[in-house]
Amino acid sequence: MDIVTDVGLMHKTAKAIRHDDKRIGCVPTMGYLHQGHLSLVRKARELSQVVVVSLFVNPTQFGPQEDYDTYPRDLPRDIQLLEETGCDILFQPTAEQMFPPGHSTVVEVRGLTDVLCGASRPEHFQGVTTVVTMLFDIIRPHLAVFGQKDAQQAIVIRRMVTDLHQDIEIVVAPTVREPDGLAMSSRNEYLSPRERLEAPVLYRALQWVRARVEAGERRGDALIEGMRRLIETASSGQIDYIAVVDTTWLRPLEELSGEVLIALAVKFGRARLIDNIILNIGNHGAPGSPEAPSTDAQ
Ligand code: AMP
Repeated sequence: MDIVTDVGLMHKTAKAIRHDDKRIGCVPTMGYLHQGHLSLVRKARELSQVVVVSLFVNPTQFGPQEDYDTYPRDLPRDIQLLEETGCDILFQPTAEQMFPPGHSTVVEVRGLTDVLCGASRPEHFQGVTTVVTMLFDIIRPHLAVFGQKDAQQAIVIRRMVTDLHQDIEIVVAPTVREPDGLAMSSRNEYLSPRERLEAPVLYRALQWVRARVEAGERRGDALIEGMRRLIETASSGQIDYIAVVDTTWLRPLEELSGEVLIALAVKFGRARLIDNIILNIGNHGAPGSPEAPSTDAQ
């Protein structure tokens, strides 16, 4: 695996790969890799000839009170995992190179970014879309793989790619979980032993929704209230939001139909955990009808 730390060199490398007519697949990450990240690398491997993983803890997507300084980092381990998984190039620029003095340009996706996670993290998605656009311009990928775990991020990036006519295929890969259902996350590191025991309640709440919907429940409010009760009873987690929304505009759904995103964010101590599922509900399935919704593969 080559490690490229210079923006100019990455530009040149990408140009040469494209000149050879090879397909570049990229996986943007902030490092401290786990099996969730590695599943995206494998997906990129399947779909392209040259896999570029970027590792950049992007300061602009953290709020002033957030965990940029303490975000977990372990470069030697990340390098080893990427070597084992089949990454061709690790692109690892410095913040100084990406955001030199005078950097003034941002990419903003409006509307989709001030709800759900954007409501409590106002600058977050602008930081993500700006840096992802910069990475796309530097790495010049044919496709980029993102995780379903960050469902809103994937939806925002798809919107951005469509709106800006960026010629890049966006692939979204399923959430990888611990055996007890907790979605893998670099921030799980922050959990105390007790919080770690409680944290799978997020997944249980999502599974409860899946079962209620399969039994015919279609009322968004009832599902949100049920999840709230379940989480508050079974854990010390502080709920940031629980949302039942459509997957295009992230608008709240009173009555579930079509493709529905059930998403939540809950704080356990200093770890803010997010999780979600997407359910596909047939338009003709009346509440209580035997026609079960087809659900995602998680
Ligand atoms: P991060 O390093 O947290 O910025 O995540 C980099 C990429 O990995 C994003 O596209 C995430 O959605 C994805 N990702 C993080 N955790 C998981 C997981 N448990 N399963 C699948 N993808 C994940």
